[in-house]
Amino acid sequence: MNLSALKGNEKLKDQLSRQEGERGLSHAYILSGPPGSGKHALARLLAAAMLCTGQGEKPCGRCGPCIKVERAVHPDVSVISDPETGKPITVDQVRQLRADAYIRPNEGERKVYLLEEADRMNPSAQNAMLKLLEEGPPYAAFLLIAGSSGGLLQTVRSRCEELALSPVGREEVLPDPERQALVQKLADALERSEELELMEAALSMEGKREELSALLDDLWMELGSRAVRAGDRRRLLRAAELVKQLRGAARLNVSAGQLSGWLCAGMFEAT
Ligand SMILES: [Zn+2]
Repeated sequence: MNLSALKGNEKLKDQLSRQEGERGLSHAYILSGPPGSGKHALARLLAAAMLCTGQGEKPCGRCGPCIKVERAVHPDVSVISDPETGKPITVDQVRQLRADAYIRPNEGERKVYLLEEADRMNPSAQNAMLKLLEEGPPYAAFLLIAGSSGGLLQTVRSRCEELALSPVGREEVLPDPERQALVQKLADALERSEELELMEAALSMEGKREELSALLDDLWMELGSRAVRAGDRRRLLRAAELVKQLRGAARLNVSAGQLSGWLCAGMFEAT
């Protein structure tokens, strides 16, 4: 797959190219990452690759469909965005999308839908989307753009492949003291049960995929040693247990965004 138009994110590009070569592109992706990480550039490349009629690596960037996607005029690519400035996509918009998806493509073999800020959709909109992900026509493909996949329902996430983008040039590994500071910040937030503080600290893990395991190991040890000293250790032990589970997930290449979402959900949703 030709993804050279996307800056940085080398690992993700390798992974996607390999996947495309082995079993073709998926029908549903979550493209997550902070502003400026290239979510829209990647969405355009995926849409073009799905519709490209050129020879060799896709997208070729030269055929009619590729050029139309690049100019945002391809009739089989639809962008669903906020109904009013700042408002998330509504359930009615998803229903319209669903009706449209059952009309066969105009020009190409596929229809591609790009959903802006999909993580801000409310649960009923997400559930309507889920039906489409599960039972939509085989030619339809969905690209869910999200600041963080943590805002998406687990059921939606399980139907999509996630492509977690990192801000360009910020994939480097944290020096040790910086990692320790982040561990302390996370442990403080968990101990004090400060949800906002925790989310903020967890966001700093974004783009640190390289060393998530090491970070979570350190955090687990820190929580354990705090629990030994603390008066009320229940919360700390629960946090340590969660972090232990997350360490397993981190080895399976789960993104920092997903991990921080799970951590916050695990700590605060049940209380
Ligand atoms: Zn092409």
